[in-house]
Amino acid sequence: MNVLFASSEIFPYAKSGGLADVAYSLPEDLRTKATVYTIMPLYKIVNRDKYSIEYQGTSFDIWLGGVRHQIDVFSKKDNKFELFLYNPILCDRDGMYHDSFGDFGDNALRFGLFSYAIIETMLQLKLNCDAIHINDWQTALVALLAKTKYFLTQKIIFTIHNIAYQGIFDKTTVSELELSWNECFKNDRLEYFDSVNFLKAGIFYSDKVTTVSPSYAKEIQTTAFGHTLEDTLVVNNYKLEGILNGLGYDVFDPQNDTYITQNYDAKSYELKAKNKVKLLKELGLEGAEKPLFVFIGRFTEQKGVNLIIESLHLLKDLDINFVILGSGEKYYNHIFENLAGKYSNIHITVGFDEAYSRRLYASCDFLLMPSKFEPCGLNQMITMRYGALPIVAYTGGLKDSVIDFTHTDDYSKKVGIGVVYKEHTIFWYMYAITKAISLYANKSRFVKLAKHNMNVDNSWKNSSKEYLKLYR
Ligand code: ADP
Repeated sequence: MNVLFASSEIFPYAKSGGLADVAYSLPEDLRTKATVYTIMPLYKIVNRDKYSIEYQGTSFDIWLGGVRHQIDVFSKKDNKFELFLYNPILCDRDGMYHDSFGDFGDNALRFGLFSYAIIETMLQLKLNCDAIHINDWQTALVALLAKTKYFLTQKIIFTIHNIAYQGIFDKTTVSELELSWNECFKNDRLEYFDSVNFLKAGIFYSDKVTTVSPSYAKEIQTTAFGHTLEDTLVVNNYKLEGILNGLGYDVFDPQNDTYITQNYDAKSYELKAKNKVKLLKELGLEGAEKPLFVFIGRFTEQKGVNLIIESLHLLKDLDINFVILGSGEKYYNHIFENLAGKYSNIHITVGFDEAYSRRLYASCDFLLMPSKFEPCGLNQMITMRYGALPIVAYTGGLKDSVIDFTHTDDYSKKVGIGVVYKEHTIFWYMYAITKAISLYANKSRFVKLAKHNMNVDNSWKNSSKEYLKLYR
C-alpha cells in the first residue's frame, strides 16, 4: 500500500495549528504499516539547514495561462519519503496564508499550483501510489484535477479539519487554473454563489471524505455547523466518515519533552509541580498552591475568546492563576495586548511559541477550551497527556474525547475526564470554572483524575487503523 499524504503544513517544518500536528503524526504512525510519502510546500519559514532538506534533482514546469511555473522537488537528506515543493509564488512569503495585511491575494493560484504540483510530483517520481490523501481547502483541488484533468486511477481521500475555512475565490480562478467551466463550474461542484469554493470541490470529487471526529461529521450536516456547506455534505454523506484524531505520542510526551523544566510520567506525577513553580516565578505570578488555568490557541471566535475576554474581570478576583498564550485575528490580538499586565493573577502573551506552549501544558492544572465549535481539538488531548484536566464546551471532538468528572466513576482508561459544559454562555462557562476550583480543593480526587488522564490512550493506534482500512 503506497499513499501520498499532502498537506499545506506539517510539524515541525511549518505549523499554524492542529493540521500540522496531524500531518506529522498520522503518516508517522501509518509508516509502520504502509509506505507513506508526505508532501508540503517548502516555505521560506522552513529551516532547510536544521532539517537537512536538499534539492532532490527533479524539476518540472506547470504552464497556466501562458505562464511557466517551475517546481523544484526537495526531500530530506536521510528520508526520501518526506517531499517538499519549491516555487517562488507558493513559497517566498513571510507567512503561509497571510501576513499582517491579511490573506494573500493570490492564494487561489498558489494552492491551485500546489495541487497541480502534488499530482505532477507523484507522476514524475513514479511513486506508484494507490491512494492520495489530501487535507483541507489548500489541497482540495487535487481531487478535481485527478478526476477531470489527469484521470488518475488512485483513490482520493479528503479530510476536512475545519469546515470554517473553505478557500473561496473569484470565479476567474476557473480560467486562471485552466479548469473546465462546463465540467467544474456547477452548483454541486466548484461553483459557490457565483464564486469558486475549493473545499466544496474537494467534497464532490473525492472518493471518500473524512472529518476529524464522529460528532463533527454529524454536526457539519446541519445549518448550525455546516458553514453553508451542510447541503453539499448531506448529499455526499454516503462517503463521509468521522475518525477521531490521535495525538503524536512521541512529540507530546512529558517524559521526554525537551522544552519543559522537569520531565515526569504518571508514576512520578508529583514531579510535575516543579514545572509550575518555575513558570509562576518567571511570569511573576504568586501561589503554586492555587489552581493554574491556561488557554492556548488561536484568537478567533471559534475558540470562544469572547468568553475569555468577558470573564477576565471575574477571574481576577478568584484565588487562581490564569495564563493565556495565543494569536489570531488582529482585533483580538489588540484587545489581549491591551489587557496584558492589567491583573496580578493573569498573564497574557500574544504570539505563537511552541516551546512556551509545552511549558504551559506541563505546568497547568486546567486548560480552558470554550470553543463555539471544535472539529476535533488537540489541546484537550495534550493537556490530558501532560496530567491536567481540560474544561471544554460540549461540541465536536471535545464531546468524543472528554467526559465530565461528575458524570463518571469509570476510570477504565478509555476516555479522558475533565469539566464539560453545554451552553456557550458566560454563565455556564463560569459555572464550569467554579466546578473546577472546587474539584481542585479535593486534592486526592484531582490527582487521581489527572493521573487517569495521563494513562488514557489518545495516540494514533486505533484511528490510524481506520485510515488504513479506508485506503484499502
Ligand atoms: P486548531 O483549530 O488551531 O488547529 P487544535 O486544537 O486542533 O486547534 O490544535 C492546536 C495546536 O496548535 C496545538 O498543538 C496547540 O498547542 C498549538 N497552538 C495553538 N496556538 C498556539 C500558540 N499561540 N503557540 C503555540 N502553540 C499553539
